[in-house]
Amino acid sequence: MEKVKIKKNTTPKFAYGARDPLPVMEHFLTLQGEGNWTGTAAYFIRLAGCDVGCHWCDVKESWGVAAEQHMRVLDLIEIVIAHKAQHVVITGGEPTIYDLRPLVQSLHSLGIKVHLETAGVHPLLGDLDWVCFSPKKFKAPLDEYYTNAHELKVVIYNRHDLQWAESHASRCADHVKLFLQPEWDRREKMLPMIIAYIQNHPHWRLSQQTHKYMGIR
Ligand code: SF4
Repeated sequence: MEKVKIKKNTTPKFAYGARDPLPVMEHFLTLQGEGNWTGTAAYFIRLAGCDVGCHWCDVKESWGVAAEQHMRVLDLIEIVIAHKAQHVVITGGEPTIYDLRPLVQSLHSLGIKVHLETAGVHPLLGDLDWVCFSPKKFKAPLDEYYTNAHELKVVIYNRHDLQWAESHASRCADHVKLFLQPEWDRREKMLPMIIAYIQNHPHWRLSQQTHKYMGIR
């Protein structure tokens, strides 16, 4: 993996809009638990607000936005700097509701890589280093994600979802890495089925919510 060098003693070049607020549900240093970057250190910024509405969502508390959740982008960045994070993961909720460019550009000015997790339901604003696209049945994604994403991650709730996953994979550009992930509450039933499926369809890889097994956020 490429080693990221954070520019030391650098004042972040706050992008235009960095004094504007974003609604932040929570932010914390952890290990990425899912997908291509599993096991790597990352500072997670979970934005509040989601207009997708998955019935099995494990962060339903992220759907609404409260006034007191708003934080200025520049204050968020100071916190990321204090944690010496080399990677930031912007997640939600559905983070593409918001213009992420001030946050992403300011982090880039420090040499910090920025990854995004999205259902792809709003246009992508910002030059992200990695986009994990996880389409959901409850709101159709935009076409641009099939070519702009780096990773397709499909949550498998029942066996019919495998066919649904293939319908999305067939639309993806060749560079997009493909992951199947059991929905957490259904993992005992879905995991053996997914393993067998990947053995016969090796263009897929398995993703699990390893942070939950580890007892971390
Ligand atoms: Fe939950 Fe994500 Fe679905 Fe929104 S898109 S409802 S945050 S799982």
